[in-house]
Amino acid sequence: MHDDRSRELYDRALSVLPGGVSSPVRATRPYPFFVERGDGAHVVDADGNKYVDYVMGYGPLLLGHDLPQAVESAIQSQLADGPMYGAPAEVEVELAEFIARHVRSVEMVRFVNSGTEATTSAVRLARGYTGRDKIVVMQGGYHGAQPSTLVEGKSGGIGSPISDGIPEAFAEETITVPFNDAEAVRAVFEERGDEIAAVLAEPILGNCASVGPVEGYLETLREVTDDHGALLVFDEVMTGFRVGGLQCAQGKFGVEPDLTTLAKVIGGGFPVGAVGGPAEIIEQFTPTGDVFQAGTYSGHPLSLTAGLETLRFAAKNDVYDHVNELGETLRSGLTDILEDRAPEYTVTGHDSMFKVVFTREGPRDPEGQCEAGCRQDPDCPRYDHCPKNSADVDAAETERWERLFWPAMREQGVFLTANQYESQFLSYAHTEEDVEETLEAYKEAL
Ligand code: PLP
Repeated sequence: MHDDRSRELYDRALSVLPGGVSSPVRATRPYPFFVERGDGAHVVDADGNKYVDYVMGYGPLLLGHDLPQAVESAIQSQLADGPMYGAPAEVEVELAEFIARHVRSVEMVRFVNSGTEATTSAVRLARGYTGRDKIVVMQGGYHGAQPSTLVEGKSGGIGSPISDGIPEAFAEETITVPFNDAEAVRAVFEERGDEIAAVLAEPILGNCASVGPVEGYLETLREVTDDHGALLVFDEVMTGFRVGGLQCAQGKFGVEPDLTTLAKVIGGGFPVGAVGGPAEIIEQFTPTGDVFQAGTYSGHPLSLTAGLETLRFAAKNDVYDHVNELGETLRSGLTDILEDRAPEYTVTGHDSMFKVVFTREGPRDPEGQCEAGCRQDPDCPRYDHCPKNSADVDAAETERWERLFWPAMREQGVFLTANQYESQFLSYAHTEEDVEETLEAYKEAL
């Protein structure tokens, strides 16, 4: 596999972009390949190498790289009418109506420009609405590059920043707990329930190997927040309109949050974010309320047109059936391969998300294990070995994944997300042949 051109571009990039990239996760070792173009379920790099793509822009590209004619025409037509106005446009109303129609917990939407901006705004809104300052987040959860959540700490303790440049005082307002630990979150609320504005959680730890919720955990979050007058915020930036189809992960798991953050799929590949919830809370945002929130690009017509047409296309076609069925096929194929090659490893993921976690121990006899990825089923023989939280994922062979496995997959023409932690995604453009080819590559690389 030649990569002279990527190497040359990286060399130039190192002089003008810190680390040669515009976002740190892209800095794969020894150097990233530069993408020249997307093609359905594939990307082609600057040296002409073609890969089956499971990165899919880190989640937004539900339909793959080639947009259906209707979606592309709508974007072109919006572009011809001018990219943006700084005044309201009909598409904002239409996309907000679409979201409110399908996501039960959402009545109103404030559009922003990224997932980070959505979670930042949701945290401010929760604080403004409740008049409290503390938030609770999950260890290993990711909510973007925002100061309130780039925080680590021991369970239930006051957090400290995980990045330079974040004042200790900011981090002290954040309490971290392990995902899937009902006792830990209950204890935090027992101790300081009246100081807590919100629990902010991804329904699936999409940035921590796609670890799913154990039975009753999301319900516990709903219960403790209700009992103590705090808000439950589901960060569905990754899972929104991907897991659980049009009802999102909250519909799939049957737990309604107070606020929902969205991004990725609702922009159809263009920058976007949103905070949704009941009018009573969302109207606390300016101009109706006193929680300041604003943005030059907010509700950007191009992003919203791409998102609306993507979702309309998904609603009218078999998009979710297709991606979810391929997800099942891929995860069960991986489960079979692991039984043979690495029985200690765990397959995770729901619907069109998937990952293989290089866990170090497995059951003696996997007979009767979850067939298409971990479902956190207490009756599954793997249950005690399946990762439940970020500490379990940290304890996996993360270096092996990144340094040996990722390059071996790339060598075979499969583009996976850069490390053990980030989820991988199927799109409407992937085919059964892609999945078969991918399973062969896994067999080789494992
Ligand atoms: N929240 C979650 C769950 C995410 O997965 C991400 C990004 O991956 C973010 C927030 C931040 O979104 P963005 O990168 O659009 O700022």
